[in-house]
Amino acid sequence: MNNNRQTGKVIIAGAGPGDPELITVKALRWLQQAEVIITDRLVSEVLIQEYANKQALVLHVGKQCRKGASTPQQIINELLVDYALQGKLVVRLKGGDVSIFSNILDELNALVLAKIPFEIVPGVTAASGAAAYAGIPLTARNYSNAVRVITYYKTDLLNDAYWKELAVTEDTLVFYMSSDTINAIVDKLTGNQISRDAHIAVIEQATTPCQRVLTANVYDYALKYKKEQYISPTLIIVGKVAALHEQFQWLTNSSSGREYFPPIAKTSKESVRA
Ligand code: SAH
Repeated sequence: MNNNRQTGKVIIAGAGPGDPELITVKALRWLQQAEVIITDRLVSEVLIQEYANKQALVLHVGKQCRKGASTPQQIINELLVDYALQGKLVVRLKGGDVSIFSNILDELNALVLAKIPFEIVPGVTAASGAAAYAGIPLTARNYSNAVRVITYYKTDLLNDAYWKELAVTEDTLVFYMSSDTINAIVDKLTGNQISRDAHIAVIEQATTPCQRVLTANVYDYALKYKKEQYISPTLIIVGKVAALHEQFQWLTNSSSGREYFPPIAKTSKESVRA
């Protein structure tokens, strides 16, 4: 530990998938003490507005790959280090859990290199949030014994041998960042003869008031939803368990068409600091 009083500290914390009440008590306590909050696009604004220290400096550094707006990772790393070196308590809030499809490794490397003390606080990842709010137990007994967390945001990420394996496994598959490639996912799985029992659930804006869930047998998806457009963020669950939504859904689909997480503008280090 670095006991130098001049140096601050960075808390890298998961904010949960959307519903602000899904943050941990620990992360919330840090937010109440934070002097600087560096937050992402997929973090509920309610957390900042209602629960965070009102005096904190709040910087939005979210990424939205498809729309090309983002704060470069290098700048985020520098902000974390710079504010901590000024002696500040910095909370780096990330959507969902910090260790699932996030750039935590870059940030940890930057902190270690600069000898900044830090803590990591987990969060509810989108798969857990979506599973709960859509009534889909991910490893329901007699349905599935494992869950795979996957991304297919670009089509060269998974090779043919892997798709063959995904089509035969009984594991529940959860695809992050893959709403643009959903038709390709369905094609690959049906093309590799996935079980006729496999269902697909597409959960848009999970755990928010804008949540919408669409389900189909994987073989019927193209017919029913091929032209469907999804609002970001969207999560895809594939497996026998996805059929359980019909029986256990407890939330009605939103028909608002509203975006819970506002799109972000492009930022530079200077504009983030302004
Ligand atoms: N660290 C995050 C994931 C970041 S990657 C976590 O643990 O959840 C961003 C992807 O996560 C999105 O493209 C989407 O696939 C998924 N995601 C995050 N929040 C979501 C939400 N509220 N509803 C549906 N999918 C979500």
